[in-house]
Amino acid sequence: MGTTYHRGEFVDDRDALLSIRSKALNYGLGCFAGIRAYWSEKESQLFVFRLRDHVERLVDSARILGLETPIGHDAIAEAIVELLRRNEARADHYVRPLLWVDSDELSPTLTDVPVSLSIYCLPLGKYFSGETIHACISSWRRVPDNAIPARAKPTAAYLNSALARADAKRSGYDEAILLTEDGAVSEGSAAHLFLVRRGELISPPSTADNLEGITRRSLIELARSAPFTWPFVERKVGRTELYTADEVFLCGTAAEVTPVARIDHRTIGTGRTGEWTQSIAARFREVARGGDAAWSRWRTPVYR
Ligand code: PMP
Repeated sequence: MGTTYHRGEFVDDRDALLSIRSKALNYGLGCFAGIRAYWSEKESQLFVFRLRDHVERLVDSARILGLETPIGHDAIAEAIVELLRRNEARADHYVRPLLWVDSDELSPTLTDVPVSLSIYCLPLGKYFSGETIHACISSWRRVPDNAIPARAKPTAAYLNSALARADAKRSGYDEAILLTEDGAVSEGSAAHLFLVRRGELISPPSTADNLEGITRRSLIELARSAPFTWPFVERKVGRTELYTADEVFLCGTAAEVTPVARIDHRTIGTGRTGEWTQSIAARFREVARGGDAAWSRWRTPVYR
């Protein structure tokens, strides 16, 4: 059993409890973050990847929902690092901070309600088991930003992800790709999408009802930096462009860089991990794990 941060205190996992009447459970009233921490054997150090950016997005998510965070940005970041220390995390970990409406009253309200912060962590290796994945275009549409804020990470929006992923799994695929209501490519169930086509790296913008992604942003920055000279284009992407792409990959905190070998039974490119995908994945690993001092601003060490 480990330690969880719950309502301002570090407690035993078993004591991090809430009521069956909780609004957070009944209506999904809350928002969350998902953060990775990478263990570097060489430096005997655990590095939290882009901690400040994740906390910023959590605070932004709360702002979009109209919720106040119980503690400020720096205190949230400190609680995350302290939680990893208390759990003596010395392997790759995933951290889940959760801001939730801490009220057991009946109605689904976001006003005049107490908000609590809980944070738990767990060891996490690869998110997808295979080297490459087979994805389908989901019949579920991505929840529009004007219905449930897709730019943020509200708990309730994950029903959308879960429905799409469940259908994909039941039909034998590894993952779902969701389209917007108007049929443009949005994102995976919990990962962003990039394609390589005609010598360009392409990804749909956040206005296509997808999360403001931190891995996505990191890859764009890396793709624009040495040693790469790739043209990156952010634009609306059509479903059938994916079928004719040279490479497609998904990315996210959990998914990292995941090559997509097939979509709807069509082979993408050679059907193996493409060259661009391979090199950006390697670069990302190097930067996240601490192999490149030039990007140390993205890494927060846990142990002093
Ligand atoms: N889209 C959705 C819906 C997600 O839940 C996630 C995971 N946070 C992502 C994309 C990937 O975003 P990030 O790189 O910030 O983890």
